[in-house]
Amino acid sequence: MKNISKIYRIGGETLYALDHASLSIGNGEFVAIVGPSGSGKSTLMNIMGCLDVADEGKYFLDGQEIEDYTEDDLTRIRNFKIGFVFQNFNLLPKNTALENVELPLIYQGVPRRECRARARQALERMGLSERLEHRPSELSGGQQQRVAIARALVTSPSLILADEPTGNLDHKTGVEIMELFRELHGNGNTIVLITHDDGVAKKAERRLRILDGQVTEEAKA
Ligand code: ATP
Ligand code: MG
Repeated sequence: MKNISKIYRIGGETLYALDHASLSIGNGEFVAIVGPSGSGKSTLMNIMGCLDVADEGKYFLDGQEIEDYTEDDLTRIRNFKIGFVFQNFNLLPKNTALENVELPLIYQGVPRRECRARARQALERMGLSERLEHRPSELSGGQQQRVAIARALVTSPSLILADEPTGNLDHKTGVEIMELFRELHGNGNTIVLITHDDGVAKKAERRLRILDGQVTEEAKA
């Protein structure tokens, strides 16, 4: 990202949610983006994940500027290349764990039987083989987040974007989820994790700070 700005105008006021932010993340890195509430973290993640577009600056994904991708390309990127994990899990409440995890594969047009097998495998990897038929309300917060991570991973995305994935979890469960991310990183996944919690950020390989929409690299310890 080079000099990325996102500007909101409300009434007569102009707010730079992102203010000429520049950063570069390589394949296979595990990066935490740390900053207080309102600093621009989610705005940054939404642009990174092609869910939103910047007003100024350039964003290169896989070496190509985002403007040069077609709408179809971007849909494909969102569905195939990126796995999203959110603070509030975003699971479908009426569907079982297995059905929630199958969904992105169904969108991709993967044959039904294969969807089931891969979803089951992803949930087993998250230690949820005993919870396949449970609905979100029948699971703990940590279990729901693990279902959400299984859903993000089931498509084997090259990039995982996690916005406050431990924000709604108690400390111990948060630590467990961070261990899972570290394991995924060890397996070669690129992970960008957003948090306001320094303790959580320490688990990442590299940290970027964001304050008032401006991004700075944290000096190596
Ligand atoms: P939190 O930790 O509370 O989730 P954040 O770092 O994710 O905060 P953002 O959601 O990126 O913060 O918001 C950055 C700034 O942009 C905030 O001041 C917010 O009020 C503003 N903002 C975000 N979305 C909009 C919008 N749609 N319209 C106007 N202002 C917005
Ligand atoms: Mg946010």
